Amino acid sequence: HAKERGKNNFQFYQAEMNASALERLELESDLRHALEQRQFVLHYQPQFLADGHTLTGVEALLRWQHPRRGLVPPGAFIPALEELGLVVDVGDWVLAEACRQLMAWEGEGLHVPKVSVNLSARQFADGRLAQRISAILASSGIAPNRLELELTESILMQDVAEAMRILDSLKQLGPSIAIDDFGTGYSSLNYLKQFPIDVLKIDRSFVDGLPEGEQDAQIARAIIAMAHSLRLSVIAEGVETQAQLDFLQAHGCDEVQGFLLGRPMAADRLAEREA
Ligand code: C2E
Ligand code: MG
Ligand code: MG
Ligand code: MG
Repeated sequence: HAKERGKNNFQFYQAEMNASALERLELESDLRHALEQRQFVLHYQPQFLADGHTLTGVEALLRWQHPRRGLVPPGAFIPALEELGLVVDVGDWVLAEACRQLMAWEGEGLHVPKVSVNLSARQFADGRLAQRISAILASSGIAPNRLELELTESILMQDVAEAMRILDSLKQLGPSIAIDDFGTGYSSLNYLKQFPIDVLKIDRSFVDGLPEGEQDAQIARAIIAMAHSLRLSVIAEGVETQAQLDFLQAHGCDEVQGFLLGRPMAADRLAEREA
């Protein structure tokens, strides 16, 4: 019986594997057409001073409006975009669209001070990133310092010397640089000091436990103090409760972002809300 069951399990496993392999192929071919079919959209999450009221900017977050699957979150397809080598083209689109939107809001009378865009590892390593961003900035017409680029620690730590060189070339164009998900990676403080960065984004895993969680509270306080001693600005992501906001404000965090203050939303929705 055991042998029989083993065999059935194996067949079941095979069937499952085939289903997911098939689904994966379908996802890949759908992804290859998504850009030309204009299925990507950006949602924007507002960022505020720690008072929770003054709008300082928005983070552009990619979504895939799939004809059958509906709105697909980035975690479900960005890794595939990376593997397929499509992330550079899609990333260019994200940058251009985010800059275009900032100008469009301006035209509607809504001043959004800056827009933050997430960069992937492949995009960062692409030799022509600075050239691409320079061209996108020029054709959009936005002041370069109204663009912020978000990178994770792991992207920067892969090859520190190379990262330093790329960051310098990006900084020269005018955008500010933020370290996303800060505290979850392994950046050396020594490099942090040398990188031409402007902002640390406290990862939401540390914001989660505030204010009661003693460890999270200590980590959040330490990140804020360290950021300020390096003359960096600090923003907390994933702020969901008033108590978290109160803690962050009391401890000198500069800016906040999270569901409490606003979920990521379509551009017209943000304009309605902030008008
Ligand atoms: P991220 O850059 O750290 O973005 C923050 C994520 O946290 C977003 O998820 C946002 O919806 C979510 N979030 C914001 N506030 C809260 C909150 O209060 N509570 C909770 N539980 N979550 C909150 P999203 O939009 O699913 O994006 C996930 C990740 O996908 C992003 O993390 C970023 O790493 C990546 N991503 C998004 N857009 C792009 C893009 O255009 N290019 C690249 N390369 N990566 C992107
Ligand atoms: Mg981000
Ligand atoms: Mg983050
Ligand atoms: Mg992230």
